[in-house]
Order: sequence, then C-alpha cells, then structure tokens
Amino acid sequence: MPTVLIVEDSKSVASIIDSKVRSVLGFDTVVAHTYAQAAELIHGESDNFFIALLDYHLPDAQYGEIVNLAISNDIPSIVFTSDIKDDIRQKIWSKRVVDYVLKEDIHSVEYILYLIKRIYLNSFLKVLVVDDSVSSRKYISNLLKVHRYTVFEAANGREALQLIDLHKDIKMVVTDFNMPEMDGFQLLKELRSKYSREELAVIGISSHRESNNILAARFIKRGANDFIKKPFLSEEFYCRITQNIEMLHQIQTNKDAANMDFLTGLYNRRYFFTEGKKLYQRAKREKSDLAIALLDIDHFKKINDTYGHDIGDLVLKEIAYLLSRKFKGKGIVARFGGEEFCILTEGVKRENIFDLFDKLRTSVQDKIITNGDNAFSITVSIGLCHMFNDSLDEMIKTADLLLYDAKGSGRNKVIACED
Ligand code: GH3
Ligand code: MG
Ligand code: MG
Repeated sequence: MPTVLIVEDSKSVASIIDSKVRSVLGFDTVVAHTYAQAAELIHGESDNFFIALLDYHLPDAQYGEIVNLAISNDIPSIVFTSDIKDDIRQKIWSKRVVDYVLKEDIHSVEYILYLIKRIYLNSFLKVLVVDDSVSSRKYISNLLKVHRYTVFEAANGREALQLIDLHKDIKMVVTDFNMPEMDGFQLLKELRSKYSREELAVIGISSHRESNNILAARFIKRGANDFIKKPFLSEEFYCRITQNIEMLHQIQTNKDAANMDFLTGLYNRRYFFTEGKKLYQRAKREKSDLAIALLDIDHFKKINDTYGHDIGDLVLKEIAYLLSRKFKGKGIVARFGGEEFCILTEGVKRENIFDLFDKLRTSVQDKIITNGDNAFSITVSIGLCHMFNDSLDEMIKTADLLLYDAKGSGRNKVIACED
C-alpha cells in the first residue's frame, strides 16, 4: 500500500488531510507535527514514502528545511504554505518540488488529493525525452522524474524510434527540434505514421528565437499535441505535461467505456466483433489456429430466483474473472449479453483446444461460490468451433448450434465441432 508522509504542525489541518488521503485515495499515511519527528520517520525509512506533503514553516524549522530533508531523501514533495510572497515561491520551486499549494480553503485539500493521485499514476507511465544536448535532456528528464514518470532518453530521432519500438507502452515523447541524424519534424512524421495523437502524445520543445517563432505552429500542424518554448518555468512545464497525459487518459477511459461490459469489466459484443474480425483475418492468412467458444451458465435463472439478483451479478463477475485469468494473452474474452460469454483463442493448438475448455468447465463446476451464509456451485455449457468457416460470424453460428446441443443433451458439457 503506498504511504503518504504528512508533515504539518497544525493538528487540525493534519487530521483533515490525513483522513481525506485515507478515505478518498485509500493510501496509508504517517503524520509528523515537527521537523524532528519527521526526520526520525524519514531516517532510514525514506523508501516507505512515495510522496510527502510538507508544511513549509514548522515550529522547529522555519525556513523550509523540511523540504530539503525530503528531497535529499528522494521523496517527491508537495509543499503547502500560507505565504504567497514571490521569493518564497521561487525558493520552493528551486528545490525541485512536485508542486506547491496555498493553504487557502477546502479546495486546496482537493487539489492535494488530485496531485497525490496523479503522481501515483505517473509511476506507471513511460515518457521519452529526445534532445541532442545532454544538459537540456537531463534537465527535462529530471523534471519528469520528480513527477515520478519512468523516463527514457534519446539523443536524436533515430534513437527515439528504436526506443519506441522497444517500449511500445511509451505514452509521451518530449522532443527537441534541432538534432543531428533526425530532427524533431522527421521524428514526428515517423511517429504519426504509426501512432495517432490519441495514442501517443508528442510535445515539441525548443528555444525561442526570432526565427523560431513559427516553430510552435509548425509542430502542432504536423501532429504534435503541444509545444513548450525554452526557457520555461517548471510550473508551466508540469501544467502542460499533466494536461496532455490527462487528455490521453480521458480518451482511453471513453474508449474503454464504449468497449467494455460495465458489470464484469470484460469486453463487450461490439469490441469482440471489431477486434475478432481482425484476428480472424490474420489467423486465416497466417494459417494459425483459431477457435470460438460460446459459454452459457446453466439454469442461471434459478440462481437469481433462489439467491437474488445481486448474487446473480456476483456469479457473473466470478465467471468473468475466471475466464479472463484462464485466457490472458490467448485471445479475447467478451460478455455477449446476459449469462453468455464468447471466447476467441488464437494460437492454441487444435489438439489441445477441447481439453482447455473442458478443464475450464470442470474448474467452474468445482468452484464453491460463497456469499454470507450462501454456498453453492454452478455449471456451464460450451459450444466450441475450432474449424475455419467462411467468416467469424459463421464460426460463432456454429458454436451457438453446438452450445444448443450441449444444453439439449444434459448441460455441464463441452461439445466441439467434428474434425
Ligand atoms: P439455461 O441453462 O437453459 O441457459 O437456463 P438459464 O436459466 O441459464 O437461461 P435463461 O435464458 O432462461 O435465463 C437467463 C437469466 O439470466 C434470465 C435473466 O434474468 C438473467 N440475467 C441476464 N442478465 C443478467 C444480469 O446482468 N444479472 C443478473 N443477476 N441476471 C441476469
Ligand atoms: Mg538540438
Ligand atoms: Mg443460461
């Protein structure tokens, strides 16, 4: 469980933040009220804290010493203060903090929660910095590392493309314009031939010279998501990076909502047909094994009637979990509707496919589902088509007929098409 260190001398403020971090974010917290207490907590245990919230003025450390302590122990730090003087602000920013927050009202607590969550999520995000100047590259990388991004570095466009090929989950590229071998525009062109603005954010970054005034517009017109002029303030840099990352995240969330089944978190019918058709074409072209199974829970109506609809939902989620675990990396699992699921496997050898589904059937049958005082088990029937028909739709139709046979001949069985 990620732990947040809170250092704040006002007991009431500390307690508000503490309880919000726990209840809203579900993270662990450790609270200190003085520099001395905090120093003791950090000493030797700094790895425990993924972020710290620090009051700039503490009774036993009036001048931001706590910030130096946390930063020197590699703890990303959010500073809060009631002091809005410019020199304090600059002093705080010079210390490589995540951000500073004014202690104004309840909104600052909300902003703090938002920041903690953002920094936590950043640790799962990969960003590539491309710049031929080592000092400039390191400077940008370090800023990103303060916000906990996983950072890769390249000295030109060509190196950048190699890294992108190697780490396909890189979400953002921050690139300089003038570079030997391959400049920012060429890199952008290559990236956009493979990834859209919604899949990979590209941010141009270059110095502001007279002749370069037009650079921002040119970058963006060629497909960049944003442009930052050098020199820049850290505060602006972070705002732009965060805004772009959140846009990608929002688009992904919308896509998920359109492709996912809300109850089980599995893919829905719509996604299954779009992606399934692609896999079908590929498997046919490459002559690899592809199978379609339709799975339907037996007498599911009885579960609802006996235990109630909520328990029925729980059963659907249990089955979904079992299926997604069993077929992870082997194809697509989707909820087709009600208590019917469709599974497409790719690359499972034909001689093994029946056993795979029959084992699934027995593991469902052997699983005891418990909820409160209720304990029961369920069974499933499966129709399995492992021969290429004329289309994906035809394979599904065949699987459906076989499922019907399985239901008609006693249920709790797998019926596969004849070889
Ligand atoms: P069979 O063995 O022939 O498949 O019988 P069955 O009872 O499983 O099939 P039937 O089609 O008669 O009933 C399916 C039931 O599934 C009826 C419907 O209320 C229930 N159902 C559909 N969607 C949901 C859901 O999202 N949640 C719950 N709890 N029940 C659902
Ligand atoms: Mg350069
Ligand atoms: Mg059923």
